[in-house]
Amino acid sequence: MSEIIVAGSINMDIVNHVDQFALPGQTIQGKLTEFFPGGKGANQAVAAAKSGASVRMIGAVGRDPFGEELISSLRQAGVSTDQVVKKEGASGMAFITVNAQGENEIILSQGANGKLTASDIPDLSAYSHVHAVLLQNEIPWPVTRHVILEARRHRIPVIFNPAPAMPVSDDDLALIDTLVLNETEAECIAGESAEPPEKAARFFIGRGVREVLLTLGERGCFYANRDGDEIAVSAYPVQAVDTTAAGDTFIGAFAAARAEGMPVREGLRFASAAAALSVIRRGAQASIPAKAEILRFMN
Ligand code: ATP
Repeated sequence: MSEIIVAGSINMDIVNHVDQFALPGQTIQGKLTEFFPGGKGANQAVAAAKSGASVRMIGAVGRDPFGEELISSLRQAGVSTDQVVKKEGASGMAFITVNAQGENEIILSQGANGKLTASDIPDLSAYSHVHAVLLQNEIPWPVTRHVILEARRHRIPVIFNPAPAMPVSDDDLALIDTLVLNETEAECIAGESAEPPEKAARFFIGRGVREVLLTLGERGCFYANRDGDEIAVSAYPVQAVDTTAAGDTFIGAFAAARAEGMPVREGLRFASAAAALSVIRRGAQASIPAKAEILRFMN
Protein backbone atom coordinates (compact mmCIF):
# COMPACT_ATOMS: atom_id res chain seq x y z
CA MET A 1 0.00 0.00 0.00
CA SER A 2 1.18 3.55 -0.68
CA GLU A 3 2.40 5.31 2.45
CA ILE A 4 2.60 9.04 3.16
CA ILE A 5 3.75 11.03 6.19
CA VAL A 6 2.13 14.41 6.77
CA ALA A 7 3.90 16.81 9.16
CA GLY A 8 1.76 19.84 9.86
CA SER A 9 -1.00 21.66 11.68
CA ILE A 10 -4.06 20.30 13.43
CA ASN A 11 -6.77 22.88 14.23
CA MET A 12 -10.36 23.18 15.35
CA ASP A 13 -12.17 25.54 12.97
CA ILE A 14 -14.81 27.52 14.87
CA VAL A 15 -17.15 29.05 12.32
CA ASN A 16 -19.57 31.85 13.22
CA HIS A 17 -22.19 32.96 10.72
CA VAL A 18 -23.23 36.64 10.94
CA ASP A 19 -25.18 39.10 8.81
CA GLN A 20 -22.35 41.64 8.79
CA PHE A 21 -18.85 41.68 10.26
CA ALA A 22 -18.55 43.50 13.62
CA LEU A 23 -17.00 46.97 13.53
CA PRO A 24 -14.24 47.75 16.08
CA GLY A 25 -15.85 47.91 19.56
CA GLN A 26 -19.20 46.54 18.32
CA THR A 27 -20.98 43.45 19.70
CA ILE A 28 -23.20 41.62 17.24
CA GLN A 29 -25.43 38.52 17.31
CA GLY A 30 -24.11 35.39 15.64
CA LYS A 31 -26.66 33.29 13.72
CA LEU A 32 -24.97 29.89 13.96
CA THR A 33 -21.74 28.48 15.40
CA GLU A 34 -20.18 25.31 13.97
CA PHE A 35 -17.07 23.30 14.91
CA PHE A 36 -15.10 21.60 12.15
CA PRO A 37 -11.82 19.70 12.62
CA GLY A 38 -9.34 21.40 10.27
CA GLY A 39 -5.78 22.67 9.93
CA LYS A 40 -3.95 22.35 6.62
CA GLY A 41 -1.82 19.43 7.80
CA ALA A 42 -4.74 17.44 9.18
CA ASN A 43 -6.95 18.25 6.19
CA GLN A 44 -4.31 17.04 3.74
CA ALA A 45 -3.70 13.92 5.84
CA VAL A 46 -7.43 13.13 5.81
CA ALA A 47 -7.66 13.80 2.06
CA ALA A 48 -4.72 11.48 1.33
CA ALA A 49 -6.14 8.74 3.60
CA LYS A 50 -9.62 9.00 2.07
CA SER A 51 -7.98 8.82 -1.37
CA GLY A 52 -6.55 5.43 -0.44
CA ALA A 53 -3.09 6.07 1.06
CA SER A 54 -1.85 4.78 4.39
CA VAL A 55 -1.14 8.06 6.22
CA ARG A 56 0.78 8.86 9.41
CA MET A 57 0.35 12.34 10.92
CA ILE A 58 3.17 14.17 12.73
CA GLY A 59 1.86 17.16 14.69
CA ALA A 60 0.61 18.48 18.01
CA VAL A 61 -2.70 19.10 19.77
CA GLY A 62 -3.33 20.72 23.15
CA ARG A 63 -4.33 19.02 26.39
CA ASP A 64 -7.78 20.61 26.03
CA PRO A 65 -11.07 18.91 25.07
CA PHE A 66 -10.48 19.80 21.40
CA GLY A 67 -7.23 17.80 21.44
CA GLU A 68 -9.01 14.46 21.85
CA GLU A 69 -11.69 15.39 19.33
CA LEU A 70 -9.08 16.38 16.73
CA ILE A 71 -7.18 13.11 17.17
CA SER A 72 -10.38 11.11 16.94
CA SER A 73 -11.38 12.90 13.72
CA LEU A 74 -8.03 11.95 12.18
CA ARG A 75 -8.41 8.35 13.33
CA GLN A 76 -11.93 8.12 11.94
CA ALA A 77 -10.51 8.98 8.53
CA GLY A 78 -7.94 6.20 8.94
CA VAL A 79 -4.92 8.42 9.73
CA SER A 80 -2.34 7.00 12.20
CA THR A 81 -1.91 9.40 15.10
CA ASP A 82 0.83 7.67 17.11
CA GLN A 83 3.20 10.55 16.24
CA VAL A 84 0.76 13.30 17.30
CA VAL A 85 2.05 14.76 20.57
CA LYS A 86 0.05 16.56 23.27
CA LYS A 87 1.21 19.96 24.50
CA GLU A 88 0.13 21.90 27.60
CA GLY A 89 -2.50 24.53 26.79
CA ALA A 90 -4.89 24.99 23.89
CA SER A 91 -5.06 23.20 20.56
CA GLY A 92 -4.68 25.23 17.39
CA MET A 93 -7.88 27.04 16.48
CA ALA A 94 -9.13 29.01 13.51
CA PHE A 95 -11.85 31.55 14.38
CA ILE A 96 -13.75 32.02 11.16
CA THR A 97 -16.55 34.55 10.67
CA VAL A 98 -18.70 34.25 7.55
CA ASN A 99 -21.02 37.13 6.56
CA ALA A 100 -24.26 36.99 4.55
CA GLN A 101 -22.27 37.53 1.33
CA GLY A 102 -20.21 34.41 2.05
CA GLU A 103 -17.03 36.45 2.66
CA ASN A 104 -14.89 35.37 5.60
CA GLU A 105 -12.52 36.79 8.20
CA ILE A 106 -10.14 34.35 9.88
CA ILE A 107 -8.03 34.59 13.04
CA LEU A 108 -5.56 31.73 13.31
CA SER A 109 -4.47 30.87 16.84
CA GLN A 110 -1.45 28.55 16.61
CA GLY A 111 -1.89 26.89 20.02
CA ALA A 112 -0.13 23.52 20.17
CA ASN A 113 1.02 23.78 16.51
CA GLY A 114 3.33 26.63 17.53
CA LYS A 115 4.85 24.52 20.31
CA LEU A 116 6.00 21.72 18.03
CA THR A 117 9.82 21.42 18.04
CA ALA A 118 12.36 19.35 16.10
CA SER A 119 12.62 17.03 19.14
CA ASP A 120 8.97 15.99 18.55
CA ILE A 121 9.86 14.68 15.09
CA PRO A 122 10.48 10.92 14.96
CA ASP A 123 13.63 9.50 13.41
CA LEU A 124 12.63 9.17 9.75
CA SER A 125 15.08 6.30 9.20
CA ALA A 126 12.22 4.07 10.39
CA TYR A 127 10.07 5.46 7.56
CA SER A 128 12.51 5.53 4.65
CA HIS A 129 10.16 3.25 2.69
CA VAL A 130 7.32 5.83 2.55
CA HIS A 131 6.40 7.35 -0.81
CA ALA A 132 6.37 10.99 0.31
CA VAL A 133 6.52 13.45 3.18
CA LEU A 134 3.92 16.19 2.81
CA LEU A 135 4.36 19.58 4.55
CA GLN A 136 2.66 22.98 4.75
CA ASN A 137 3.42 26.23 6.57
CA GLU A 138 1.24 26.20 9.69
CA ILE A 139 3.88 24.82 12.08
CA PRO A 140 7.14 26.65 12.92
CA TRP A 141 9.38 26.90 9.84
CA PRO A 142 12.48 25.49 11.64
CA VAL A 143 10.48 22.31 12.33
CA THR A 144 9.27 22.08 8.73
CA ARG A 145 12.82 22.61 7.48
CA HIS A 146 14.12 19.96 9.87
CA VAL A 147 11.59 17.45 8.46
CA ILE A 148 12.52 18.40 4.88
CA LEU A 149 16.24 17.84 5.60
CA GLU A 150 15.54 14.54 7.41
CA ALA A 151 13.36 13.34 4.53
CA ARG A 152 16.08 14.17 2.04
CA ARG A 153 18.67 12.39 4.18
CA HIS A 154 16.53 9.23 3.94
CA ARG A 155 15.70 9.80 0.25
CA ILE A 156 12.00 10.31 0.89
CA PRO A 157 10.39 12.62 -1.74
CA VAL A 158 9.28 15.98 -0.27
CA ILE A 159 5.96 17.58 -1.26
CA PHE A 160 5.70 21.15 0.08
CA ASN A 161 2.68 23.46 0.09
CA PRO A 162 3.95 26.86 1.35
CA ALA A 163 0.57 27.92 2.76
CA PRO A 164 -0.12 30.38 4.30
CA ALA A 165 2.12 32.26 1.88
CA MET A 166 5.67 32.98 2.99
CA PRO A 167 8.94 33.85 1.26
CA VAL A 168 11.12 30.77 0.61
CA SER A 169 14.83 31.14 -0.19
CA ASP A 170 16.31 29.68 -3.37
CA ASP A 171 18.41 27.30 -1.24
CA ASP A 172 15.27 25.95 0.42
CA LEU A 173 13.34 25.70 -2.87
CA ALA A 174 16.12 23.46 -4.19
CA LEU A 175 15.29 20.96 -1.41
CA ILE A 176 11.73 20.43 -2.68
CA ASP A 177 10.70 17.61 -5.02
CA THR A 178 7.07 18.67 -5.55
CA LEU A 179 5.98 22.25 -4.83
CA VAL A 180 2.19 22.76 -4.78
CA LEU A 181 0.93 26.31 -4.43
CA ASN A 182 -1.86 28.70 -5.36
CA GLU A 183 -1.34 32.00 -7.16
CA THR A 184 -1.03 34.09 -3.97
CA GLU A 185 1.68 31.79 -2.65
CA ALA A 186 3.44 31.74 -6.04
CA GLU A 187 3.47 35.56 -6.18
CA CYS A 188 4.76 35.81 -2.60
CA ILE A 189 7.73 33.53 -3.31
CA ALA A 190 8.52 34.62 -6.87
CA GLY A 191 8.03 38.30 -6.04
CA GLU A 192 6.20 38.79 -9.34
CA SER A 193 2.85 38.03 -10.95
CA ALA A 194 1.93 34.34 -11.20
CA GLU A 195 0.39 35.02 -14.62
CA PRO A 196 0.67 33.29 -16.96
CA PRO A 197 1.02 30.04 -14.96
CA GLU A 198 3.58 28.67 -17.45
CA LYS A 199 5.94 31.52 -16.58
CA ALA A 200 5.44 31.08 -12.83
CA ALA A 201 5.99 27.33 -13.10
CA ARG A 202 9.22 27.84 -15.04
CA PHE A 203 10.41 30.25 -12.34
CA PHE A 204 10.20 27.48 -9.73
CA ILE A 205 11.72 24.82 -11.97
CA GLY A 206 14.58 27.28 -12.55
CA ARG A 207 15.10 27.41 -8.77
CA GLY A 208 15.72 23.66 -8.57
CA VAL A 209 12.23 22.34 -7.73
CA ARG A 210 11.74 18.95 -9.46
CA GLU A 211 8.05 19.47 -10.26
CA VAL A 212 5.61 22.30 -9.57
CA LEU A 213 1.84 22.30 -9.42
CA LEU A 214 -0.04 25.60 -9.46
CA THR A 215 -3.66 25.50 -8.36
CA LEU A 216 -5.80 28.15 -10.04
CA GLY A 217 -9.17 27.87 -8.23
CA GLU A 218 -12.09 27.36 -10.60
CA ARG A 219 -9.69 27.70 -13.56
CA GLY A 220 -8.07 24.36 -12.64
CA CYS A 221 -4.35 23.67 -12.28
CA PHE A 222 -1.05 23.75 -14.14
CA TYR A 223 1.78 21.24 -13.73
CA ALA A 224 5.38 21.41 -14.94
CA ASN A 225 8.50 19.37 -14.27
CA ARG A 226 12.24 19.48 -14.86
CA ASP A 227 11.95 17.24 -17.93
CA GLY A 228 9.94 19.96 -19.69
CA ASP A 229 6.52 18.31 -19.36
CA GLU A 230 3.71 20.86 -18.92
CA ILE A 231 0.10 19.83 -18.28
CA ALA A 232 -2.97 22.06 -17.77
CA VAL A 233 -6.13 20.47 -16.34
CA SER A 234 -9.47 22.30 -16.08
CA ALA A 235 -11.53 22.29 -12.90
CA TYR A 236 -14.76 20.27 -12.97
CA PRO A 237 -17.72 22.62 -13.42
CA VAL A 238 -19.70 22.49 -10.17
CA GLN A 239 -21.84 24.86 -8.12
CA ALA A 240 -19.42 25.83 -5.32
CA VAL A 241 -20.98 26.18 -1.86
CA ASP A 242 -17.86 26.41 0.33
CA THR A 243 -14.33 26.34 -1.06
CA THR A 244 -12.71 25.82 2.39
CA ALA A 245 -10.06 23.11 2.07
CA ALA A 246 -10.37 22.81 -1.74
CA GLY A 247 -6.61 23.22 -1.94
CA ASP A 248 -5.98 20.77 0.92
CA THR A 249 -8.27 18.17 -0.66
CA PHE A 250 -6.53 18.62 -4.01
CA ILE A 251 -3.03 18.23 -2.51
CA GLY A 252 -3.87 15.20 -0.33
CA ALA A 253 -5.60 13.46 -3.22
CA PHE A 254 -2.74 14.22 -5.63
CA ALA A 255 -0.14 12.93 -3.14
CA ALA A 256 -2.12 9.70 -2.68
CA ALA A 257 -2.63 9.25 -6.42
CA ARG A 258 1.07 9.67 -7.18
CA ALA A 259 2.08 7.45 -4.27
CA GLU A 260 0.02 4.60 -5.71
CA GLY A 261 1.71 5.10 -9.08
CA MET A 262 -1.01 6.94 -11.02
CA PRO A 263 0.48 8.85 -13.99
CA VAL A 264 0.68 12.63 -13.47
CA ARG A 265 -2.18 13.62 -15.80
CA GLU A 266 -4.53 11.06 -14.27
CA GLY A 267 -3.42 12.16 -10.77
CA LEU A 268 -4.25 15.76 -11.65
CA ARG A 269 -7.73 14.76 -12.87
CA PHE A 270 -8.26 12.64 -9.74
CA ALA A 271 -7.20 15.55 -7.46
CA SER A 272 -9.38 18.01 -9.41
CA ALA A 273 -12.39 15.70 -8.99
CA ALA A 274 -11.70 15.34 -5.25
CA ALA A 275 -11.45 19.14 -4.86
CA ALA A 276 -14.62 19.72 -6.92
CA LEU A 277 -16.55 17.35 -4.65
CA SER A 278 -15.18 19.19 -1.59
CA VAL A 279 -16.43 22.61 -2.79
CA ILE A 280 -20.02 21.45 -3.15
CA ARG A 281 -20.13 20.67 0.62
CA ARG A 282 -19.51 22.77 3.70
CA GLY A 283 -16.67 22.34 6.20
CA ALA A 284 -13.06 21.27 5.97
CA GLN A 285 -12.46 17.58 6.77
CA ALA A 286 -16.22 16.94 6.66
CA SER A 287 -16.26 17.91 2.97
CA ILE A 288 -13.43 15.63 1.81
CA PRO A 289 -14.64 12.77 -0.44
CA ALA A 290 -13.51 9.12 -0.38
CA LYS A 291 -11.74 7.39 -3.28
CA ALA A 292 -14.78 5.42 -4.52
CA GLU A 293 -16.84 8.59 -4.72
CA ILE A 294 -14.06 10.45 -6.55
CA LEU A 295 -13.73 7.64 -9.13
CA ARG A 296 -17.54 7.54 -9.63
CA PHE A 297 -17.59 11.33 -10.15
CA MET A 298 -14.84 11.08 -12.79
CA ASN A 299 -16.67 8.47 -14.88
P1 ATP B 1 -8.34 26.96 -0.34
O1 ATP B 1 -7.40 27.94 0.33
O2 ATP B 1 -9.74 27.45 -0.52
O3 ATP B 1 -8.28 25.59 0.20
P2 ATP B 1 -6.47 27.14 -2.52
O4 ATP B 1 -6.37 28.59 -2.85
O5 ATP B 1 -5.34 26.51 -1.79
O6 ATP B 1 -7.85 26.82 -1.83
P3 ATP B 1 -7.47 26.66 -5.16
O7 ATP B 1 -6.51 26.94 -6.24
O8 ATP B 1 -8.54 27.68 -4.91
O9 ATP B 1 -6.66 26.30 -3.85
O10 ATP B 1 -8.24 25.27 -5.45
C1 ATP B 1 -7.56 24.04 -5.54
C2 ATP B 1 -8.22 23.21 -6.61
O11 ATP B 1 -9.59 22.98 -6.23
C3 ATP B 1 -8.27 23.85 -7.98
O12 ATP B 1 -7.08 23.59 -8.70
C4 ATP B 1 -9.51 23.20 -8.59
O13 ATP B 1 -9.18 21.92 -9.14
C5 ATP B 1 -10.41 22.97 -7.37
N1 ATP B 1 -11.40 24.05 -7.23
C6 ATP B 1 -11.28 25.18 -6.51
N2 ATP B 1 -12.38 25.97 -6.63
C7 ATP B 1 -13.23 25.30 -7.46
C8 ATP B 1 -14.53 25.57 -7.99
N3 ATP B 1 -15.20 26.70 -7.70
N4 ATP B 1 -15.08 24.63 -8.80
C9 ATP B 1 -14.43 23.47 -9.11
N5 ATP B 1 -13.20 23.17 -8.65
C10 ATP B 1 -12.61 24.06 -7.84
